[in-house]
Amino acid sequence: MQMCGVWSRHLDCESDMGAYSRILLAVDLTEDCRHVAERATAIAGQSDAELHIIHVIEPLSLAYGGDIPMDLSSVQDQIHEQAKSHLAEFSSEIGIPDQRRHLVFGRPDSEIHRIASEEGVDVIIVGSHGRHGLALLLGSTANGVLHGATCDVLAVRVGDDARHH
Ligand code: AMP
Repeated sequence: MQMCGVWSRHLDCESDMGAYSRILLAVDLTEDCRHVAERATAIAGQSDAELHIIHVIEPLSLAYGGDIPMDLSSVQDQIHEQAKSHLAEFSSEIGIPDQRRHLVFGRPDSEIHRIASEEGVDVIIVGSHGRHGLALLLGSTANGVLHGATCDVLAVRVGDDARHH
């Protein structure tokens, strides 16, 4: 009987070892992220983990450099306001509180890495499109997040490929 007690304690420890304690869900705020969020909330529920969410706003200057000879700051402000309300609405729907919402400026992959290490997350969850041809060569945010991540990365299939399975 003594042996059983030891064995069951050992199993409890082993199941805890596999669980995540802090999860970072990266969202581009498109329709696809609902499916990615469902996976993230399910995993967070199973592991009793703290779920964080991040959306990164790419500065227009990063995307267009000096190509557009005009002041883009008011457009950038509008993009920021829209992203803020969209992220708030989405986070509330899936039950992520204010202090676990991250809205930041920069390159998505490097900002996702930065917040992941600042918050000490043990898995980042992103969406991943099946890519072909040129898109495959150019890479994707999911690829960028995977490379250089210091924790696990889960890529959830989204888009047409996911719908056909
Ligand atoms: P993409 O490579 O742009 O097709 O995006 C794939 C996944 O990367 C999305 O489903 C999100 O999980 C993540 N992602 C893309 N853009 C952003 C962004 N601006 N902020 C946060 N996550 C993003």
